[in-house]
Amino acid sequence: MYKPSMLKRCFTAICFSPVLLAGATEAAGDTESPWPNGAEVAVVLTYDDALDSHLDVAIPQLDKLELPGTFYLSGARPSMRIRLDDWRRAAERGHELGNHMLYHPCRKSVANRGWVKPWQDLDNYTLDQFVEEAKTTNSMLQAIDGETQRTFAYPCGDMQAGGKDVVPALQALVTGARLFSADGQHKVDNPDFYRVASFDGAEKSGAQLISVAEAARENHSLVSFMFHGVGGDYITVSEDAHRQLLEYLAANPDHYWVATMREAVAHLKGVQGGAGSGSR
Ligand SMILES: [Zn+2]
Repeated sequence: MYKPSMLKRCFTAICFSPVLLAGATEAAGDTESPWPNGAEVAVVLTYDDALDSHLDVAIPQLDKLELPGTFYLSGARPSMRIRLDDWRRAAERGHELGNHMLYHPCRKSVANRGWVKPWQDLDNYTLDQFVEEAKTTNSMLQAIDGETQRTFAYPCGDMQAGGKDVVPALQALVTGARLFSADGQHKVDNPDFYRVASFDGAEKSGAQLISVAEAARENHSLVSFMFHGVGGDYITVSEDAHRQLLEYLAANPDHYWVATMREAVAHLKGVQGGAGSGSR
């Protein structure tokens, strides 16, 4: 169904021969892979909430293996004031700084949301208020990294502000938006980039994380991981488990194209557009 040209397969530095491409495709089944360099799966590693353990643990691990991450930053988090230069340096090394709003608003009416402050309560936001905060976060991030396109992660996965769907407004502000799901897979024929799935990596072993990436090979999906704390902070994955996943991905570039969310979404939109599926 998807027939990306050799040019698309080779749009980054390394090209594989047609023989190698054919071998990789056969190993994964009949569906042709849409991803660059003959990779079977696109993997997006995402990190929420601008935590210190991202700067101290996750980014050093990523940089050592030259893998990019996508960091969904909330502007009011302490590290945005105290460690702004560290975030700027991360962007300079190829990591995406994504939009996670300024105040991390969530719906207080949902179960187990006692921690949501009244001023953070998305049930009491207006849609205009949500849009203005999302726009301001984009401006803040542009001031850090100079980028004019970025993606979004719904704080708490909530998609309503004051009872209104935020997706139509977000479509004008970001190129895609991330949720979470059981398998973390966004199928290659799915044109809805405002509900990109991700797998919650908290408290998983390295083997469990690797199995999620492996499971995506059958469908050639875009598979995303959502992390919060890495070896610290909260909703944590251990330093070892995180490193094991990264080392596995880096050791198998013929299987896995590790990209930022911005890159993966842009690539898949291009492929879908070429296949006439009417992506945005
Ligand atoms: Zn969050």
